[in-house]
Amino acid sequence: MTGFRREASDILAELEAMRAADAPTHGGRVLSYVYDSGLPELDELAARAARLVQPVNGLDPTTFTSVAAMEAGVVGFARRVLGGAGDDEIVGSVTSGGTESCLLAVKSARDLWRSLRAGSPRVPRIVAPVTVHAVFHKAAEYFGLGLDLVPVDPDTGVVSVAAIEERLGDDVALVVVSAPSYPFAGLDPVADVAAITGPRGIALHVDACIGGFALAFWPDELPAWNLSVPGVTSLSADLHKYGYAPKGVSVLLTRGRDRQRHQYFATTGWPGYPVVNPTLTGSKPAGPLAAAWAIIEALGEDGFAALTAQAARATVALREVVGGIEGLRIVGAPTGPLFAVATDESLPAELRVDPHHWADAARAAGWHLQLQPALTQADGTRLPHTTHLTVTPVTEAVVGELSTALVAAADAVRGVPTVDGRALVAGLAETLPGGLDALAAASAGLDSDGAAALLRALGLLGGADATRAAGADGALPDRLAPVLALVGALPPQLTERLLVELLARVVEPRD
Ligand SMILES: *Cc1c(COP(=O)(O)O)cnc(C)c1O
Repeated sequence: MTGFRREASDILAELEAMRAADAPTHGGRVLSYVYDSGLPELDELAARAARLVQPVNGLDPTTFTSVAAMEAGVVGFARRVLGGAGDDEIVGSVTSGGTESCLLAVKSARDLWRSLRAGSPRVPRIVAPVTVHAVFHKAAEYFGLGLDLVPVDPDTGVVSVAAIEERLGDDVALVVVSAPSYPFAGLDPVADVAAITGPRGIALHVDACIGGFALAFWPDELPAWNLSVPGVTSLSADLHKYGYAPKGVSVLLTRGRDRQRHQYFATTGWPGYPVVNPTLTGSKPAGPLAAAWAIIEALGEDGFAALTAQAARATVALREVVGGIEGLRIVGAPTGPLFAVATDESLPAELRVDPHHWADAARAAGWHLQLQPALTQADGTRLPHTTHLTVTPVTEAVVGELSTALVAAADAVRGVPTVDGRALVAGLAETLPGGLDALAAASAGLDSDGAAALLRALGLLGGADATRAAGADGALPDRLAPVLALVGALPPQLTERLLVELLARVVEPRD
């Protein structure tokens, strides 16, 4: 083919214009989603490595042997730094991300549980603190397990071992703990939980997706949290977080070959090629793997330690600044380069700072923090609404500027009351036939037009064609505090349905 329909330079210019509207992926202004090493040459190396394997199909490492070599290298590095150095019984897979790693950990545990109880009609359970990542809700739904969420201490955000022990039984296929948890960065008591699951023969997964490759090089002494704890049967850690790789790469390590073989799907029962998949995907890219492999080769353990030290210093500095802001408090005792911030309710209302108003004020100044909703636990206690900060190596370069902005944002909203979600909902209910209860009851059967109409009534979906998210250009509203308040006050089933509608409509074609 000679000549494309459009000039390549023109196509790329259009993409660059679209990228310019994205939240900034570099420079430390977005404190979630992106993990910036601050080293452009590392990003460049990763891009070149990914480009080299662009045509490769990771589906078959016997045909594309570079995939097998890189995967062995990456798993070997992960095993070495995550507590399994020299342990021949620890094997692993490279996956497309934390979600896939965790889904596979659940699938393996379920299938092992089943294999030991042939014919059992029982539905196996996952037991985990309520702070466990939502991917375990997804895994339970996808793979047909029950999910037994154990309340955490509302002050520290960490679970008690006794509370987990109460839930254990023969139907438990897997206990999951986090190192640390995403919402509050609480480091669960891994060794103490292993001491009660191990003797019962219950599998124990450590979700170190966010923290694994940071805690592995953390400058402070930590309680044992990784595969060095004998009862830990699997561990997930994301290379596209503190491995600084582009999105699409994570590692799942498993203790014992026989346990890990339950992860695989294999069939010769069709007239095509024999299918043998260690992960959820069939054909898959080798680019993220190659990028992660190249980064590991470039940094080595010393390079990782140096980057982790930067993130750790920035975290200490930010916790000190935020902890010192009158009206805010840091939740619990966070471990690793992340933390959550709540209102200091020990102060009178006029001195309190609402964390969501605070995040909105920071966003107006160009700093993106992540709003997290409140949650009522099974025991009736309430986890507060918070704002989450993930700190990366590049944060250290902007920590002074960021600190100033965070203090100014708090000053701007101190005393402004938390948005009353119930009042918003009450106002809404008046406009709806049958009120909100009728709607909640019907929400399972709400069709997409009904859901879109409701989103429009809430001001979250604009445009006459009803396909556009608010702001016409698909951008979120300026202030997220009211959105989160609404989300928190509506019945969860309804909120979930509305969010599905919103996200689905954002990607619909416009012509
Ligand atoms: C990010 C994360 C996940 C999910 O990983 P993705 O890479 O987003 O699929 C799971 N657990 C924890 C603790 C995480 O932080």
